[in-house]
Amino acid sequence: MSAGHLLDQKRARKLLEQALSGGEIPPAFLFVGPHGTGKEEAALEFAKTLNCSPGGEPVADLFGASESETSDQGDTGQSDTGLFKGVLGGCDTCHACRRIAAYTHPDVIVRMPLPRPRSKPADPADPTEALAFKAEHPYRDPEIGGSNLSIGIADVRAVTRQLAYAPVEGGKRVIIFREAELMREEAQNALLKSLEEPPDHSLFILTTNRPDALLSTVRSRCRTIHFGPLPHDTIVTWLRDEGFTLSEEFDCAALARGSLKRAIAISEGGIPARDEALQILSWVIDGRSPQALKWAAGHTFKSGGGAQVTARQVLDELLSLTRDVAVIQAGSDVPLMNPDQDVLLRSIGAGATAGAGVEALEAVIAARGEVDRFVNLALIYTSLFEALKPLGS
Ligand SMILES: [Zn+2]
Repeated sequence: MSAGHLLDQKRARKLLEQALSGGEIPPAFLFVGPHGTGKEEAALEFAKTLNCSPGGEPVADLFGASESETSDQGDTGQSDTGLFKGVLGGCDTCHACRRIAAYTHPDVIVRMPLPRPRSKPADPADPTEALAFKAEHPYRDPEIGGSNLSIGIADVRAVTRQLAYAPVEGGKRVIIFREAELMREEAQNALLKSLEEPPDHSLFILTTNRPDALLSTVRSRCRTIHFGPLPHDTIVTWLRDEGFTLSEEFDCAALARGSLKRAIAISEGGIPARDEALQILSWVIDGRSPQALKWAAGHTFKSGGGAQVTARQVLDELLSLTRDVAVIQAGSDVPLMNPDQDVLLRSIGAGATAGAGVEALEAVIAARGEVDRFVNLALIYTSLFEALKPLGS
């Protein structure tokens, strides 16, 4: 596997290699895990394993032959050619591998959430530009504008239509839907039949950080592979390798919580949602709730679900902050999730009544659940800010 940090997704890697070795590869996978933990890269590595073609012939057709050859004759000299030998990933140098990495291989089809133009709802969105960006910057988001991001039914149909034909290059067609939690319900329904009965030469990989946002009928048709947060040292090494200067003030990798995407954002100046969460927290505990409610009023209505996205992000950050206060109040030596805010969080913990941290945490968890159930955001914010007040001294 070329991407070193993926080596630390040991469990996911083992399960994928078992699936590849088992003879019959499941028709659909669901890669589940937080943003920035290597799900999409693993999907590409899986596609490389099946399509790596150093000698011109796809590996998928060579599994049997290569296994018997290697067991009879030892190293046949093919170990650096990317032929599958129980290790996930291709050779990274052949024409097929290079095009998969660049998102230009005709049989590795990748779709991601894109803005839906109101003028042409029936047309599939063209992901070429966004994917070209992703090929260069796997852990950054392309600036594609618009908040109404989704994978629509037209995108799914454009892909499933191709299933009737054999793969262009004779290997295995791998269809990857990134951030599948943003696939519209009708699009998910349109995908069901293909997930259940894909042609022999095709398989699906859906990646998501919120599997609960997918229809249970979609989830049940996929083999789920979990990706956990990456280890601290992996993130430090990766940041160094990518040329980032590590902050001396705070442990950037600890703040990243196992996500390379988060690590980049922090290294480059912070995470807007966390700044917002910190601001809200300080307003509420300083008794300046009207300020917080004013913020809420500006973040309650936004077309295309943008306000929901903001609410999820900000509440996730508030969750980690209140969790840290609870940890401090409990006198636990568990590491803080926001170690750079140590002083502030300790002063909140010391000033508030005992148990206020846990109660605040519970209130944030409840609010977070309500956002997912599309409860009115103004109501959520109002009652949450009220529930956070005991954090103030
Ligand atoms: Zn290759």
